[in-house]
Amino acid sequence: MATAALPADAIVQAETYYLPPTPRRGQTAQDWSQVPGAELLYRWVESRFGWRVQVPTASVPDDPGLYARIDDGRWVAECICGNAWVVSVLDPRFGCASCRRDWVPLIVPDDITAAEAEALALDRRFWFHPDDPRNPARPEQPEPPAEPEEPQP
Ligand SMILES: [Zn+2]
Repeated sequence: MATAALPADAIVQAETYYLPPTPRRGQTAQDWSQVPGAELLYRWVESRFGWRVQVPTASVPDDPGLYARIDDGRWVAECICGNAWVVSVLDPRFGCASCRRDWVPLIVPDDITAAEAEALALDRRFWFHPDDPRNPARPEQPEPPAEPEEPQP
């Protein structure tokens, strides 16, 4: 897995968002530095909300994946269950602590630095993958028909 040093004003992602809890007096601070970026979510929901969610051990077969986008200065992806989570673009796997699905690919831009620079330079702090169906700037995309609610797995 490639790791990269992130500048201080970089877009927030899993590695900079999901941080260990501040230790109480007499406690030792937890060290999450060796936890892969995509798995930090599971540590965080346990420490933050008390959710005990197993880290997925399998991937959803043939899943096309989810697009990562920049939303208000954070890299996020939105699950099929409707929950959005801060994601790691350095560890592009997506799992969901709400519906507890197995890993699906996280589709990240070829040039992450350029995407972040674009979001920061335009002071929008928003960015969509050009192929993302949710991208509001996609040209000539007819409105898709409303989709029926899918049953939860
Ligand atoms: Zn989900």
